[in-house]
Amino acid sequence: MKIAVCAKQIPDPATPYELDPEHHWVVRPDDQVLDDTDRYGVEIALQLAEASEGSVTLFSMSPAGNLQGIRQALAMGADKAVIVSDPALKGSDALVTAKVLARAIEQEGFDLVIAGTESTDGSAGVLPQQLAELLGAPALTFAKAVEHDGDTIRIHRQTPDGYDEVEATLPAVLTVTAGVVEPRYPTFKGIMQAKQKPVEQLTAADLGFDAAEVGAAGSAQYVRSVTPVPARQAGEIVEDDGEAYRKILELLEQAKVV
Ligand SMILES: Cc1cc2nc3c(=O)[nH]c(=O)nc-3n(C[C@H](O)[C@H](O)[C@H](O)COP(=O)(O)OP(=O)(O)OC[C@H]3O[C@@H](n4cnc5c(N)ncnc54)[C@H](O)[C@@H]3O)c2cc1C
Repeated sequence: MKIAVCAKQIPDPATPYELDPEHHWVVRPDDQVLDDTDRYGVEIALQLAEASEGSVTLFSMSPAGNLQGIRQALAMGADKAVIVSDPALKGSDALVTAKVLARAIEQEGFDLVIAGTESTDGSAGVLPQQLAELLGAPALTFAKAVEHDGDTIRIHRQTPDGYDEVEATLPAVLTVTAGVVEPRYPTFKGIMQAKQKPVEQLTAADLGFDAAEVGAAGSAQYVRSVTPVPARQAGEIVEDDGEAYRKILELLEQAKVV
């Protein structure tokens, strides 16, 4: 089975994000990490590929930087990566990003595409469904368990009350919820091998896009304004005189937590 995994490189969430003051786009430094939510997709892909003698190719759209995020996913065991990186893509919204990734994936060929449900930096939660529409493949979303049998893919789709069983015939697009599997840690051997694995870098033109179709020019979505999150208020300290639990319970009730 030929598995494509969407692997987004994002600025390290442990450091404060910088926005460019003119367009409010996230400033993307050279050092970017693999979005944590995509580690689950990589893990599921590796498990499915191991069971079917398949291959796992990563697809990413972002400034390439030093490819640290992509190498993290290669070190887990993915076979190769295709990264679309081009100054012409600056300002591309979710739909343009989906169009770019769809064309790169189509060019490579696929049986299954796996993505996260929502990225950590953008959080739009729409790209995989756009990708499915563009690829003409069914979208199986919010998978918490995945089973592959011949040309059928079956999932447990997480719901507020439990799960639905959903199945589709391949090719298909799948989104996995964070926490569904334990992503493997790269071994030392994996880290060393990742340095030698093929990483193909493509431009928008390589995929047949005109400059007007991508980047800010091709995007309908833009950020009108941004507002800083209000500073957190100092908490209330309850001194324990042996009866502090009563006060804490009262405060929790006031906050409607209990
Ligand atoms: C106004 C605006 C400006 C932007 N400017 C830039 C820019 O200058 N440079 C740039 O590279 N991007 C840019 N983007 C694209 C952006 O970083 C996202 O990739 C895109 O909008 C998808 O949104 P999301 O991450 O919220 O998607 P979601 O729908 O939340 O993502 C769900 C899943 O889709 C996959 N996915 C999403 N994005 C990517 C990706 N890029 N590569 C691989 N997999 C992905 C991941 O598996 C992710 O978990 C811009 C977006 C907007 C709205």
